[in-house]
Amino acid sequence: MKRFDYLKPGSMGDAISALKEHEQPFLLAGGTDLLVAMKTDAVRARCLIDLKGIPGMDAVDYDNGFTIGPLSTIRELEMSPLVREKLPVLSEAAATLGSVQIRNRATIGGNLCHGSPAADMAVVLLAMDSEVSIASRDGERRTKLDRFFSGPGSTAVGVEEVLAGIHIPKELEHYKGVYLKHGPRRAMDIGIVNIAILMEADFSSQICKHVMIAMGAVGPTPLRAVAAEKILNGNRLTPEMIKKASEAASTEAKPITDFRASADYRRAMVAGLVSRGIGQIMASGSGN
Ligand SMILES: Cc1cc2nc3c(=O)[nH]c(=O)nc-3n(C[C@H](O)[C@H](O)[C@H](O)COP(=O)(O)OP(=O)(O)OC[C@H]3O[C@@H](n4cnc5c(N)ncnc54)[C@H](O)[C@@H]3O)c2cc1C
Repeated sequence: MKRFDYLKPGSMGDAISALKEHEQPFLLAGGTDLLVAMKTDAVRARCLIDLKGIPGMDAVDYDNGFTIGPLSTIRELEMSPLVREKLPVLSEAAATLGSVQIRNRATIGGNLCHGSPAADMAVVLLAMDSEVSIASRDGERRTKLDRFFSGPGSTAVGVEEVLAGIHIPKELEHYKGVYLKHGPRRAMDIGIVNIAILMEADFSSQICKHVMIAMGAVGPTPLRAVAAEKILNGNRLTPEMIKKASEAASTEAKPITDFRASADYRRAMVAGLVSRGIGQIMASGSGN
């Protein structure tokens, strides 16, 4: 690893100024992506700006929905009683990321800003119709997560900007959710296909009022399965309807073939996981 400067600013303003003033600066959160990339020279940072000195960046606040600080660790989200009560699917998705050691370091903000199409938090937050706040010298702007990812490793956070918060709408507490991650190993691996589904339904009549489906590792960014959602919204969850929606999601997926799985296999897994996920949601809803 090449030599680099290390800064730990005490405010957001100082962090943003440091991004402007230093050559090849990189923001450091938990370091579980960044330091690995620096060790292999995939990233050449001349200056690391550690965000952990900025107060409040790891807060998990609940008022009108959740506002989650970008430095909240994945372990915190997995274990938080409040998250488990209000949004259990977020905690369940967090529990699938890496190992306990990784989850204790890795942050939700780092997971989003790394821009991996397979990032667990990105997929579940996309299915939650979340928004993010991005801080710059001009103040803060908010953007929906479906406009945040622009390609592998690329996001809406500009060179002199910092991801400052993640906002999850309050209405989602009435939704049932499921997170399914398919991979060759049960731990320490990103998914070959990840699916998150959030659904509001009348389970006695089996009518889907509103559904959001996000898919990971099947395109250049995490994707929403918009056509599949349209098929289900407002309709009865019959086996035929679920099959139609699962096939639509599979068609919407844009996977590549790589050493981990073929594109055809990934498409088939999308159909299977969407169908299984809806089945699990219906089973959990009918138990109420
Ligand atoms: C062994 C191992 C297993 C893993 N398993 C998984 C897995 O199962 N699922 C998964 O999704 N990931 C996995 N990862 C990847 C990684 O742990 C996660 O992506 C993690 O959430 C990254 O967070 P971090 O805080 O460590 O980010 P860092 O490494 O600190 O930062 C990642 C990137 O985001 C930028 N960044 C960080 N915070 C901000 C911010 N607030 N504003 C702007 N830019 C920012 C950094 O500059 C850097 O470019 C694994 C990694 C390892 C090493």
